This record gives sequence, C-alpha cells and structure tokens, in this order.
Amino acid sequence: MNQTSKETFDQEVNKRRTFAIISHPDAGKTTLTEKLLLFGGAIRLAGTVKGRKASKHATSDWMEIEKQRGISVTSSVMQFEYEGHKVNILDTPGHQDFSEDTYRTLTAADSAVMLIDSAKGVEAQTMKLFEVCRKRGIPIFTFINKMDREGQNPFDLLEEIENVLGIRSFPMNWPIGSGKQLCGVYDRHATRVELFQGDNHDEIKVQNVSGYDDEIIKNITTDYLFESLNEDLQLLDVAGDPFDYEKVKQGELTPVFFGSAINNFGVQTFLDNFLKLAPTPAPRESNQGQISPSDKNFSGFVFKIQANMNPAHRDRIAFLRICSGEFDRGMSVKHIRTGKNIKLAQPQQFMAQDRDIVEQAYAGDIIGLFDPGIFKIGDSLSVKANIEFDELPTFPPELFAKVIVKNALKNKQFQKGIEQLTDEGTVQYFQSISGDEKILGVVGQLQFEVFEYRMKVEYGVDIELHRLSYQLSRWIQADQIEPSKFRINSQLVFDKKGNHVALFENEYAMRTSMEKNENVQFLENPPQ
Ligand code: GDP
Repeated sequence: MNQTSKETFDQEVNKRRTFAIISHPDAGKTTLTEKLLLFGGAIRLAGTVKGRKASKHATSDWMEIEKQRGISVTSSVMQFEYEGHKVNILDTPGHQDFSEDTYRTLTAADSAVMLIDSAKGVEAQTMKLFEVCRKRGIPIFTFINKMDREGQNPFDLLEEIENVLGIRSFPMNWPIGSGKQLCGVYDRHATRVELFQGDNHDEIKVQNVSGYDDEIIKNITTDYLFESLNEDLQLLDVAGDPFDYEKVKQGELTPVFFGSAINNFGVQTFLDNFLKLAPTPAPRESNQGQISPSDKNFSGFVFKIQANMNPAHRDRIAFLRICSGEFDRGMSVKHIRTGKNIKLAQPQQFMAQDRDIVEQAYAGDIIGLFDPGIFKIGDSLSVKANIEFDELPTFPPELFAKVIVKNALKNKQFQKGIEQLTDEGTVQYFQSISGDEKILGVVGQLQFEVFEYRMKVEYGVDIELHRLSYQLSRWIQADQIEPSKFRINSQLVFDKKGNHVALFENEYAMRTSMEKNENVQFLENPPQ
C-alpha cells in the first residue's frame, strides 16, 4: 500500500480536475458532457450519454420511476483523461429530478461550469445551484451555449450574469456574428479565431491571428460583422473587467466562453482553457484543521448514497470524495462515526457507460463504495488520525407533505424506513409539536415519489402523501420559543434531531413571523 513515490503521487493529484456542470434543464448539459467525453475518448459516439439516461438501468425496478418519467435519477461521476489531466465530471441531476442530491453533489466539486442558454439567459435552477457554489467560494466558469441560434446580445448576457448573480465576468472568447450568421469566435487569450464553416456550419478551423483587427478575420466575414467585432472588443478592452486569476480562484470573476455544444463549436477552446485555469483538488476543513490533498494518508467523505443501482443485488453505493492521499483497492480504513475498521474491497469508478472496479485513486477522485447499510451522508473515512470532515450543509426544504401510514401495524417498518432514508438524504423528516403529524420536506418533487416507492418496495409500507401548502422553512433558535407566535400561515415542527423548525406558506408569512419574534434566530441550516 502507498507504494507510489511522493513525486508521482503529487503529479497524480495535480492532474486532477473535479467539477460539476450547473444549469437549468435544456440548456445543453447532456450535450456538452457528451462532447467533453468525446474529447477524452471516453465514449466513441455522441448520443451515448443520452443512451445512458434511457437504457442503462432499464431492467432495474428501482429505475422504473426513471423509465416511467424518462428522466435520470442517478447522478454519477464520469472520468476521462485529456492532455495529461484526469477529469472528473460530477453529474448533477437537473430536470424534474432536482433534489437535495443535486446540491450535495456540489460539495464534492472543486469548481463549477455554469451552462447558460444564449436565448434564455440566467434561469431559476441555475440561480439556485450558483448560490450553493458561491457559498462554497469555488471558481465558476461560464459556457454560453446555443450561439448557433438567435439569442440575446452577448453584452446583455454578461450584464444579466452580473446583475442577477452578482459575479463579475471576463469573456475569454467573443462571438463573430450569432445565430445563422455565426461564423466563429475570437479567442482573446490565445489570439486566434475558431471558425465555423462549411455548408452546414459543421467544419471547425482554428487559425492564429495577430489580433481582432487581423485581415484574416476581415477576409472571412462581412464588413458589418468585422466592424462590430472590433467595436465590441475595443469596448471590452477599455471598459471590461481585467482578467484577474486570483478573483477567478475566489469565485468572484467568471471566465465566460461562447459556443455551441451541439456543433462541438467552442468546446475545445473551452476545455483547453478550463483545464489550465480550473483548480487542482482543494484542501478540506476538518476537526483537525485543513486537510491537504497532498497528505499521503487517505481520507474522504461520503456526499451521496444511491440505492439499488444494480438490480441483481439490492445494493447501495456510497459516493466518496477522496480528500487526501492515495486509495488502493482492498485497503482498510477507519469509519470515524462508528470507530470501526472497514475494508474497501470493491470500490468502483464510473465511466460514461460502465462501472469499473478501481485499483487506485487519488485525492480529487470520486469512488463508489458498496454500502451494506453502514454509511450516512457526511461520514468521514480515514487511515490515520480521526479526521472528521465538516458537516455537509443541509438545504431548507421547499415542498412539504403529510405522510399517513395506511396500515398502523406497519409503523415499526415505517420508522426503520425513515431512519435509513433520511440517513441517505432521500427526504427530510419532521413531526408536529403535538407528535401526531408526520411531515416530509424536500427540494424536488421526485424525492416524494422515490420515498413513496421505496417505502412500499423495500419496507412493505403503503403510505399516502398529502401535499401541504408550505414553501419555506427555517430552523429557529431562541431561549424561549412561543408556538402561539407561529400560527398564521405557518407551523412549528421538530426535525429528526428535535430542533424546532418553522414552516411558512410564503415569504410574507415568514417576514411577519420574523417581525413578531425579534429574539428568535431564523436559520437556513440546522444549528450545529
Ligand atoms: P440538458 O437538459 O441540459 O441536458 O440539455 P440537452 O443536452 O438534452 O439539450 C437540450 C436540447 O438543446 C436538445 O434538443 C439539444 O439538441 C439542444 N442543444 C444542445 N446544445 C445546443 C446548441 O449548441 N445549439 C442548439 N441549437 N441546440 C442545442
């Protein structure tokens, strides 16, 4: 174990780039992922990523929900190699299957790529995911997609990013024309043009130029497009934010790339620059201070638990982000919460189509561990010292439902199901103050469906769910809490650990409550 020399080990860690793509449904995340994997040779044919969504798990009954709704419940990790880098893309479920998992996955990423549809601009789901990334302070890169369609003016898009998200931007390249007239992008960093040619605009040619006023550009475009390109870029040179790598690293400035994923246009420029600028695995906070990825002792934390990925065995997979050191198949590690030593015998890594047994992995990588039911979200594993990583954030639920167990004799199984499903982070569970109402809280509708399905199939409990009209929740803390002050369009409940939580029907109800309860703290996360 740990045979690798320090030099090779450092090289391995520094090769790694682990990121998540954040976007609103239909912005083109699947298409972009596919193209990136193609560059890495991880898949041979475009279309494979979609295929994965539709058919990979078709035989699994767990995936019935997925099949019925034609969406992807699994969020996994795809690894590929490109130009000396090991790239890990964390797939964040983004459609109707948006859930707390999507948020939690971001805790395992070192940077994020924000994908925006050029016609639609910054959309709701992007905003939510962006906020989580911003709170973590990770670098955020922007890819403005679908430039082959008539979209918004590039300056308007940058302004929207700055106004809506509050992050400064630096365009790394600039479109020459747009929609049907799109004939290329000018790469500001490498001073070259990437040209979009051919009858169907499907040939891509890269040419070095001396600047944006180069004759080469003039000759391949119309006078009008050449002039507006020059005007735009002069304006950016004079009035735009300067490129400041420190700000990029702090998540205060986002490098912006324009392109068209479906045409593979601008994708390589993006990938090349992204890999140069994206951070290597970052240190993580723990009870023993910062844990550096270059510490050779293995450590990591579980950020996601996925049940029944393999229909043959009702298995659960715990996804672990390696924070430091080297992982070797079969190694023994300490499971910090229980104090037990466990052997990591069949760890897995995920390619676009396949799961492979992994022999070795390094800080920055994500591995999947078979979980016989011992892991909880946020669990830490380490070989030396009792490293415990900081607790993963909890996200305030936005959808609520009352649960009724149809057969009272099944209450015991229900409790067992609640224990496990809340550990996995499937739903959050609350009880009314009187104790007679069971309430579930989620951030995405699919979580309810998964809960109902698994209660029935895995625990044999039939339930009824009745949607409640609450939309917001806050953990509340005070010396004295007066339930009578949480009556109007709101309700006071207990979470699983017995903390008080207030549920509100709308912003107004929440504000009223805040005004009435001046000595009470309203928290987005449970008190530590
Ligand atoms: P996701 O929901 O974000 O994963 O989006 P998809 O990758 O499934 O893409 C949504 C739709 O947009 C599909 O019909 C894609 O073919 C289309 N699309 C993706 N990228 C582009 C692009 O660059 N230009 C155009 N015109 N369409 C695109």
